[in-house]
Amino acid sequence: MRTVYFDNNATTKVADEVLEEIRPYFCELYGNPSSMHTFGGQVGRKIREAREKVGALLGCDPSEIIFTGCGTESDNTAIKGTLAAYPDKRKVITTRVEHPAVLSVCRDLENQGYTVVELAVDKKGRLNLAELEEQLDDGTALVTIMSANNETGVTFPVEKIAELVTGKGIVFHTDAVQAVGKIPINLSKSSIDLLSLSGHKLHAPKGVGVLFVRKGTRLAPFMLGGHQEGGRRAGTENVPGIIGLGKACELAMQNFNEENNRVRNLRDKLEKSILEKCPACMVNGDTANRLPNTSNISFEFIEGEAILLMLDKFGICASSGSACTSGSLEPSHVLRAMGIPFTAAHGSIRFSLSRYNTEEEVDYTIEKTPPIISRLRELSPFVTR
Ligand code: PLP
Repeated sequence: MRTVYFDNNATTKVADEVLEEIRPYFCELYGNPSSMHTFGGQVGRKIREAREKVGALLGCDPSEIIFTGCGTESDNTAIKGTLAAYPDKRKVITTRVEHPAVLSVCRDLENQGYTVVELAVDKKGRLNLAELEEQLDDGTALVTIMSANNETGVTFPVEKIAELVTGKGIVFHTDAVQAVGKIPINLSKSSIDLLSLSGHKLHAPKGVGVLFVRKGTRLAPFMLGGHQEGGRRAGTENVPGIIGLGKACELAMQNFNEENNRVRNLRDKLEKSILEKCPACMVNGDTANRLPNTSNISFEFIEGEAILLMLDKFGICASSGSACTSGSLEPSHVLRAMGIPFTAAHGSIRFSLSRYNTEEEVDYTIEKTPPIISRLRELSPFVTR
């Protein structure tokens, strides 16, 4: 059966060029980049090159890049490392719609006695910056706000937020795991202090991430051990992962605007046609400020899981906004924070595209989806007939 992969916010295909680039670093060039000998040294050189490529995509100095094990580790390091560097400050500000890699750390901090403020969003998933401004005070160590939401694709004005926050002498971190490669980021013209990204969201392998740390930002290391990453992240480097991430960043920079516009057009065609062909459905989130690849659609009165299973029968991979918690389907915390009605939040589906999707795949999905929705509505106990 064919596979139509519209779940790129979950993970992405490793680019062929990335695989080619990393292949020698498993069995031929397997030296340790910290070794004194030439065999290891050539690997060290390749890591330096990868650091330069990541720096070029982000618009920062390579020395401001720390390679980590994943986006989750980058987020944890940013938050815990900042708090350890400012032991007298006990307040953290975040939003209700962050990824669990941030939210669960913040909730754990609350249990340890920190004050954690989770900013609300409106029904389109937007923040009120006046509410943020009111919360900034001398006791605040860190503000951590994502660049783009993984479920809805809604983007936050992080450049503006960074200016506001750092202007008060407070550290600003952004989880840009979903944003990197999809929207332009230029850290040389920004006040962002800390930024997280993850390789497997932009066609690099799983198990590698980055934490950007602006020069001069105080941050205690999270992993202690050897002297790798300038003593900022101990542990022998994931050499193929890092080299692959460098290559993936280089590829993301090629035809950045053209590729993202092509993906946006495909996403818009998919979304528009589904809305036209399926009654009682709506797009979740602020469509004016959104990643080009993501569409989150609520189909009222039916379960997202049922839609996913039926799409899966045609090889179409998407994801739903509900999570199975203790045997019952709970709408996602993001859609709940946006106040999406129960009947719509339960039937939400996220389609997330990448540069590898084709128009033919979009047409196939436009053909298969409406009959699935009609069939499920016929079976729905919520639809009155
Ligand atoms: N932050 C966001 C916004 C994400 O979407 C994800 C993964 O889905 C993560 C963090 C975690 O990244 P990783 O899977 O690399 O740990």
